[in-house]
Amino acid sequence: MAGGWLDLMGIRENDAEASAGNQLADRRDAAVRAAVEQGIVGPDTPIAALLDITGIRRSAAALKSAFTAATSAPVLHAFAVKASPLVPVLRLLREEGLGAEVASPGELALARAAGIRPAATVLDSPAKTPAELREALALGIAVNADNPQELARIDALVRSAPSRSPIGIRVNPQTGGGSIEALSTATSTSKFGVALRDEGARDWLVRAYLDRPWLTRLHIHSGSQGIPLDLHVQGIRELYELAEEINARVGHRRIDTLDIGGGLSVNFTSDEETPTYADFVRELSRAVPGLFSGSYGLVTEFGRSLLAKHGTILARVEYAKSAGGRPVAVTHAGAQVATRTVYSPQSWPLRIAAYDPKGRPKSGPEVAQDVAGPACFAGDLLAANRPLPLLEQDDWVAALDTGAYYFAHHYAYNSLARPGIHGFAADPDGKVRFAVVRAAQTVEEIVAESGGAQAESLLGG
Ligand SMILES: *Cc1c(COP(=O)(O)O)cnc(C)c1O
Repeated sequence: MAGGWLDLMGIRENDAEASAGNQLADRRDAAVRAAVEQGIVGPDTPIAALLDITGIRRSAAALKSAFTAATSAPVLHAFAVKASPLVPVLRLLREEGLGAEVASPGELALARAAGIRPAATVLDSPAKTPAELREALALGIAVNADNPQELARIDALVRSAPSRSPIGIRVNPQTGGGSIEALSTATSTSKFGVALRDEGARDWLVRAYLDRPWLTRLHIHSGSQGIPLDLHVQGIRELYELAEEINARVGHRRIDTLDIGGGLSVNFTSDEETPTYADFVRELSRAVPGLFSGSYGLVTEFGRSLLAKHGTILARVEYAKSAGGRPVAVTHAGAQVATRTVYSPQSWPLRIAAYDPKGRPKSGPEVAQDVAGPACFAGDLLAANRPLPLLEQDDWVAALDTGAYYFAHHYAYNSLARPGIHGFAADPDGKVRFAVVRAAQTVEEIVAESGGAQAESLLGG
């Protein structure tokens, strides 16, 4: 049976990834066309964000099956809410069997609004207040303490009221950074967790567990965009070895669950989803075989790798001009929806696809051109000097792989409105249907959120 339908379609097994990439691109092209035809975008709605519901479901299923194939131990896949803080997305992932990793009162509220159970919720964050900790422990949400001072706060709370919350400590293996400094969590001086190689840290950790029968977990988040897989996995190996050492010292398997974090890097250069979750699990079982022996329950916290490839920002080319011999397409997508790319283009290059006014893929000879945004500063470019079919007025540009940490992370520069976000999927008859995930922000809302009700507050007195 294995690979049966692939054989039927005349596709070799090792082409399966490329084929999944083609399907992703086909769904995206169909959605862009339908968005133009159905008026999701148009002259008065020059920007919208699209989310591929089919793709999101497939990524969630791929994550679950990669782990189920490797271990019989319980695994909670807690989606990192910061990657896509949208209630309908969290609700969709809940339906796929995922939970939530939250790092602020806002993210916790979003997870709860999506109906994610406390038992499927994990609270991380390096700066939890006493009130946040109290709420989490009262709800029974898993908590990972970041540092000794936070553990002392938890000590006091646990003494004053019993809690069902599984509690762990986050460690930083100090295994080194990747290609993006700002996202490297495991450098020697990272702000996160207990720095494992610092003098006395290991002894302090062992003692913390010896003294507290309710400490049953260990946490790490050693991956991130730009971290090579081997370094990512090496961090998890250090976590496993520390758990084994602590359990040996305690004399029984006190630590029963390892939270291995998220951080699988995403391929932003093509439609291929590589590395896959299966690749990750294969690499982990090679480097840390004990992890899948069944003696530890597992928690994962993936964000970007579940959503990035399933989001597209679609923006109208308002004007096409030329400056100093370079063509410039002035569009409605810039720093407000692609902040990281605009401010740090070397670390966060995005693929751009060109479509004609009817939303059909644009062809023609490639010309190096700038794809600019609407914001009033010169660096507001989605892409600089990028070879693309020459963009013209009323064409559409799509910023690809923007499903995580892009359009849901609006930056309010120039009071540009948050664009609407629309999920899409094809009917059985092939027609693309859209569902509102988040309505576009109105100018009335911008005024209200900008102190509109306090217009006179700085006058007089
Ligand atoms: C950001 C974060 C994640 C998710 O990281 P991705 O790179 O989006 O997978 C998971 N856990 C923690 C603690 C995080 O801070």
